[in-house]
Amino acid sequence: MISSPDPSAATLRSRPQVLCISGHDPSGGAGIQADIEAVAAQGAHALGVITSLTTQNTRNVSRVKPIAPGLLQEQLETLLEDCPIHAIKLGLLGSAEQVRPIRWIIEQCRVPVVIDPVLRAGGGASLASAQTTVALLDHLLALATVITPNASEARALMPAAQTLDEAARGLLAIGCAQVLITGGDEKTEDVENHWHRAGAAPQVFRWPRIPMGFHGAGCTLASTLAARLALGEDDEAAVLNAQRYVQASLQRALRVGQGRAIPGRLPLPAA
Ligand code: PLP
Repeated sequence: MISSPDPSAATLRSRPQVLCISGHDPSGGAGIQADIEAVAAQGAHALGVITSLTTQNTRNVSRVKPIAPGLLQEQLETLLEDCPIHAIKLGLLGSAEQVRPIRWIIEQCRVPVVIDPVLRAGGGASLASAQTTVALLDHLLALATVITPNASEARALMPAAQTLDEAARGLLAIGCAQVLITGGDEKTEDVENHWHRAGAAPQVFRWPRIPMGFHGAGCTLASTLAARLALGEDDEAAVLNAQRYVQASLQRALRVGQGRAIPGRLPLPAA
């Protein structure tokens, strides 16, 4: 007879848990599915809360429908009553009103927070209104341990900055502890990711550019980073290992539709 596991048994395993607060992408390339897969691949467990439903495929996004902030608050409270949270990842912010429940959970948890300031889809569609972007800037970025804008998001967040380094310094000045600006959307031969921390020299990581467009690479990086921090890695190791994992995922990218490829976050099990 097969006995079912006793949920109260002291031997039951647990893993570090990452609260992922993200949009839903039905193509499975970006958003919450990217988070769940990436977090699981690091050996952590994702708790998934949706900020927005979207209509999209691997080519582009055509509609974003935010979840009501009251429902978000209820979901976060219900999780917090029950589940330990070791890191938080915030992806697509659905509306300015969602800032309140998200600030609340960040303040309750006091764990590493990774924010991917998602503003525009790789296919070109806008994912955040001007009002939502201002709310993100004014009320959330300062609470982040690391923010992971791509180069065009960094420029959009700091429009007065003349260079990307200046944009990074501006973002640090808001109060986020670290800024990792990714360069997948730039024209450089290698992909250059720039890591800025207050009081330390900026560091550049170079990765061979894989000559195709990807959908969901940014979400994969941010949630992997959150998982690595939840696992107890220090900032330096987490930043490096998250990039290594993204690079490996891009090398085994999957064709899901006719548009951009998605990162192969879950390697096939050995036969
Ligand atoms: N949809 C959702 C829910 C997202 O969170 C994102 C990016 O973070 C996107 C779409 C766009 O992803 P990409 O720019 O990689 O295509």
